[in-house]
Amino acid sequence: MPPLAPPDDPSRPGSARAARITTSRARLTLLVDEDEASAASPLGVTKTLHAHIDAIGAALSTWGEFREPVRVEVLGSTDIVLERAGSREAPWLRGVAERDRVTLVAPSLWDERCSVGRLVQLLKHELAHALTFQRTTREGTPRPVGLPFWFVEGLAQVAADELPPVHVRRTLGEHPASLLLLRPPRDLLAAMPATCYAASADAFRQWMEVFGHARLNAILTAARHGRPFAQAYERVIGAPIDRFEMEWTERAQAAAASE
Ligand SMILES: [Zn+2]
Repeated sequence: MPPLAPPDDPSRPGSARAARITTSRARLTLLVDEDEASAASPLGVTKTLHAHIDAIGAALSTWGEFREPVRVEVLGSTDIVLERAGSREAPWLRGVAERDRVTLVAPSLWDERCSVGRLVQLLKHELAHALTFQRTTREGTPRPVGLPFWFVEGLAQVAADELPPVHVRRTLGEHPASLLLLRPPRDLLAAMPATCYAASADAFRQWMEVFGHARLNAILTAARHGRPFAQAYERVIGAPIDRFEMEWTERAQAAAASE
């Protein structure tokens, strides 16, 4: 285990109040930085994590173990979240992940209704990203390069048990550019985020049914050892990743046509 920054490390802004929350499941250690107003609200992140850390760790342990602690920063504005996500066109984002940091918009500021269940789901989702990034990059790299959108977002949604609404799933194959949904350009993602995320979840779920955890682990490990993702994928699976993407698209279109 790498050394933990002590919670009162003066070199880290705001860290005097960081709470250390840990579970042996998935070797998950969090340093949670939340201001008093947010922490005191009924949906405080620190409070929610204390109550659900074992369940969150158990859900994530299916996907591997953390190599480093993750800092969770709860912010009173969406601006920094959008900035860290590198996107101004995603006002619906509630969190963003890097390999050692998850940044969340305080649930009391969400436009839509939040609940403990939804917050736990968001924490699982963002921490699944941090775990994937820790498993595919070396220290000092916030995010991996070359992982397709559907693979990253699909894994996080499956790990968080997020099931896209049926009406969105039904429309996947009807989209004229259904293949693009898996690697959406910025304007497509901004125009129809729910559809792009649903396509990711659906594709990744199907991928796991076909290839399973052993091959997923082999791909992530090869990527961590410096192989570009597409190469790591092809070496383990024996076929390029776009073959699966094409097959998923054909299945989605056939399902839409038979409705
Ligand atoms: Zn995500």
